Amino acid sequence: MSRRIGLSVIVLVMVLALAVPALAQAGPDAAGPVNIVMDFQWIRQGQVGIVRVNGADVEEVRAVFQERVFHFYPDGSGFTGLISASMERDVGAYVMQVWIKYADGTSERVDESIQVNYGEFGRSDVTLPPSLMPLLEQDVNQNELDRLANVFTRFTPERYWDTGFVLPSGNEQIGWFGAYRLYNGTYWYQHTGLDMRMPIGTSINAAASGRVILSELLPIRGGYVLIDHGWGIYTGYAHMSERFVVPGEWVRQGDVLGLSGNNGRSSGAHLHWEVIVGGEWVDPLAFLNLSAVASAE
Ligand SMILES: [Zn+2]
Repeated sequence: MSRRIGLSVIVLVMVLALAVPALAQAGPDAAGPVNIVMDFQWIRQGQVGIVRVNGADVEEVRAVFQERVFHFYPDGSGFTGLISASMERDVGAYVMQVWIKYADGTSERVDESIQVNYGEFGRSDVTLPPSLMPLLEQDVNQNELDRLANVFTRFTPERYWDTGFVLPSGNEQIGWFGAYRLYNGTYWYQHTGLDMRMPIGTSINAAASGRVILSELLPIRGGYVLIDHGWGIYTGYAHMSERFVVPGEWVRQGDVLGLSGNNGRSSGAHLHWEVIVGGEWVDPLAFLNLSAVASAE
């Protein structure tokens, strides 16, 4: 009897001796575990969710969501990532792969499911004068989008903004993010920003501190200023009649970037303000409500 127990103990020890090193080698979370916290239960199309990763010896965090790479940024005790859901992708459950690299060189991947719900986008009809009809051509639109997408692939790990984000103008809001617009009864485009009605020549203020990346005349956006705020966040200001800033220039929140106008693919004097997070257009008003970027008041 006692001999049988003794044999069992020996076999058990042998099994453990074989198993433990194997586990340690394959153990992806040898340096973990990490804590992944999402500050949302689901997000809408065209909106942003905040993800925080905390854990000992975490050196770098990235996530892949809807085939885009999102860089996380050191934020005090851990890492913060702003995950944007495309306004153009279907609703449903998507896997977010979180890649964590540890100081000892090991890494692991943790999968989280994120539910994307309907953006509740409106629709409207827009009539442009015949002179602007060439701006409805698909390749004109695509060339401009490609140009901007190329800019958005740059990720600035520093955080340039300090006191949060605010609207660049207090004027009346007349056009909503994500709206499906039928131009001249022919072309459908989804609205990438928020429109505010204002007389030509109204001062346009920087929504937050950052660095000017573009200041030029684009076919569709007209006089356009684009600011890099760091952390993969950009804000764009379109249809401006005058621009007072140049690429490379640093601006503070509230600085006058230029004057509003009515150029590019515009059917009336207004400012088109757009926010880009992780390479996706996001709802500017929802973005302003995010705790990570809310204005400190
Ligand atoms: Zn617009």
